[in-house]
Amino acid sequence: MNLNLYGHDGHWLMVDCGVTFPKPGRIAADGTVHHRGEPPVQMADPAFIADRRDQLAGLLITHAHEDHIGAVPYLWPLLQCPIYTSRFTAEILRRKLAEFDLLHRVPIHVVDVGDRRAIGPFEVQWLALTHSIPDPNALMIRTAAGRIFHSGDWKLDDHPLVGHGYSRTTFTDLANEGVDAMVCDSTNATVSGHSTSEAVLYDGLLNVIKPAAGRVVVTCFGSNIARLHTLAMIARATGRYMGLIGRSLINMSGAAKASGLWDTADTLINASHFGYLPREEVLAVATGSQGEPRTALRRLAAGNHPDFELEAGDTVIFSARAIPGNEEAIDALIGRLKALGVSVITAEDADLPIHASGHPAREELDLMYQWVKPAIAIPVHGEALHMETHAGIAKANGVPRAMVGRNGDLFMIRPVPGIRRQITETGRLGWEGQVLVRVE
Ligand SMILES: [Zn+2]
Ligand SMILES: [Zn+2]
Repeated sequence: MNLNLYGHDGHWLMVDCGVTFPKPGRIAADGTVHHRGEPPVQMADPAFIADRRDQLAGLLITHAHEDHIGAVPYLWPLLQCPIYTSRFTAEILRRKLAEFDLLHRVPIHVVDVGDRRAIGPFEVQWLALTHSIPDPNALMIRTAAGRIFHSGDWKLDDHPLVGHGYSRTTFTDLANEGVDAMVCDSTNATVSGHSTSEAVLYDGLLNVIKPAAGRVVVTCFGSNIARLHTLAMIARATGRYMGLIGRSLINMSGAAKASGLWDTADTLINASHFGYLPREEVLAVATGSQGEPRTALRRLAAGNHPDFELEAGDTVIFSARAIPGNEEAIDALIGRLKALGVSVITAEDADLPIHASGHPAREELDLMYQWVKPAIAIPVHGEALHMETHAGIAKANGVPRAMVGRNGDLFMIRPVPGIRRQITETGRLGWEGQVLVRVE
């Protein structure tokens, strides 16, 4: 549930405003929201900034994953600031806001990579990076006091298939200018090597879909438009019709079409036609890779999906990883599918890669530190182990100082005269007992 605040000269800039989906036992009384029968979500406590929202110059959304965008409809009424984001992310945001009757109240500014805008005392530049969703951005935030590179979620994918790529010189140029602090994704800091490119998955997915005799159902994250493009190419190559089942897949593909990111050769059939097709001509892409209740794959496994029924000899492919905490639900789902006689293929079983992470592994972090050369590394996005490991990687690449924080910590990147502060050895700032973001 990402929510970052940058402060300078009496103003604040918010970067991302996301949610998390707690397990039932972990739901706190605070921060738990039920909305129209959807699962409960949890988000950062915005009290600090809501109390001084006249000082909030704007909200930047780096990309459209729920952990970065999901809290906007809930929290915007407390913030009432303009939002700046990329085209695809804005399209997703509009759809969310419409559900909350907020669409016409929220000023959304669509930005392109390379754009620079003055937002309050901050000069923000949007930079092209690659991730597992279209149109992700890194940010360069410049003020009179210092310059911050905020990576957002990223990987280095030389063949992202959909949307813009990235360029090494974007980041070496930042080093030439000088970067005071780099706030960077730690998710896969404990993973060695380099993340897999989306382009590599064609061979892996073809390898498991081509030999399948019955229906094929692939479950993946709906926001990965590149994955949907790869599956559509494989549908054409194997004589199958592709259709999407599940609300988030249909919503995401709609947003991709509306923002010009959908390949027009990737034709889809309406899922209501699946029941009338020969089994060997079906390629259904379904939501529910995490075993979540009420998703398409759960309903297929339970035999109560309106579009078709799975039978012995059909194949279900998990083109996704298990998010930690979901293993039990996924195992139960796989058990139910196998009991129907369905063959199940997961990313662990497949001979070739059928899933690619969207986050940087060690070699990619090494490269980014060698390119950007920040004075301070501030690892974010991960658990304590990931952030500590990330700090070690930064130091190994010559970064003089790394600051690892906890939720709610405030870091002083440049001393500000006149502000009473206590900086500990790790660089934490005690703000007279006030925490920036209270969680759980
Ligand atoms: Zn994220
Ligand atoms: Zn993400």
